[in-house]
Amino acid sequence: MTNPAIAANGLRKSYGDKVVLDGVDLHVPEGTVFSLLGPNGAGKTTAVKILSTLISPDPASGEIRVGGHDLAAEPQAIRAKIGVTGQFSAVDGLITGEENMLLMAALHHLPKRDGRRVTAELLERFDLVDAAKKPASTYSGGMKRRLDIAMTLVGDPRIIFLDEPTTGLDPRSRHNMWQIIRELVTGGVTVFLTTQYLEEADQLADRIAVLNDGRIAAQGTSEELKRLIPGGHVRIRFSDPTAYRSAASALREVTRDDEALALQIPSDGTQRDLRSILDRLHSAGVEADELTVHTPDLDDVFFALTGGTAAVPDQTKEVVG
Ligand code: ADP
Repeated sequence: MTNPAIAANGLRKSYGDKVVLDGVDLHVPEGTVFSLLGPNGAGKTTAVKILSTLISPDPASGEIRVGGHDLAAEPQAIRAKIGVTGQFSAVDGLITGEENMLLMAALHHLPKRDGRRVTAELLERFDLVDAAKKPASTYSGGMKRRLDIAMTLVGDPRIIFLDEPTTGLDPRSRHNMWQIIRELVTGGVTVFLTTQYLEEADQLADRIAVLNDGRIAAQGTSEELKRLIPGGHVRIRFSDPTAYRSAASALREVTRDDEALALQIPSDGTQRDLRSILDRLHSAGVEADELTVHTPDLDDVFFALTGGTAAVPDQTKEVVG
């Protein structure tokens, strides 16, 4: 049996009275992609910072091991095995991409010749050869992220933490990044990925944990998580707030999205079900701007698990009317 790449039991972190991580268990087998999914402020970055030894967990935490080493006792050994990229980018904009890479190689004490070889290989692999001699500040968002990952790979880490690696990237750069992540895993690297994007977790992760309010609300494969949701739903969107409120009262079992003026109603998507919803809207004298039918996907799971109450779907539906 190999060691899990990451094994954390009862991970806790508070700032003063604010509990950020409230007893989180994480187990990531070697060579897999694990995605920590959660809305803004859920505690994802805090978890990454702790697991990558940048900050300490609360003493009340259970045992935490990364790369087979105890986090409290052997942080240096862990640092030698991991790479971290994402929100705290290491790219220096004033120097060129190539210089950033060579600097990283020097920090890892690679002999000059090896540093130049690894730099050339990685610039090629991440499609940065043409830009190599330009200041990194002139790079696009996607190029900076690629350079950031390339710099992380100079140290040949076995575990890579990617904190929201595609936030703010255009769709093409996002797909490029996904391809890079897949190739890393093919090479045997373990990837710990945080994201706000369900599609990203769905595309990449072997296992997904949904973090909400400092606790794991659900954990499993994408398919397992989708099975938590009994059926699909209909989403009805309004532009008129008055119509939105009337519809929310007229329909039973709706989940409200007050910001988007949209209602979600559990539905199997059959003609009968849709007609009944439309009849009720009609009787209430309201007209929707848009009606879409959804089969269950990770969005539903996320919505159900992080939509105010961290519990199983039935308890999260706000019943109005
Ligand atoms: P996420 O990455 O999921 O968006 P974070 O881990 O960045 O969430 O933050 C989780 C919560 O912890 C937020 O409410 C944030 O304000 C709080 N937090 C993070 N770092 C600190 C800190 N150094 N001091 C106080 N509160 C913090």
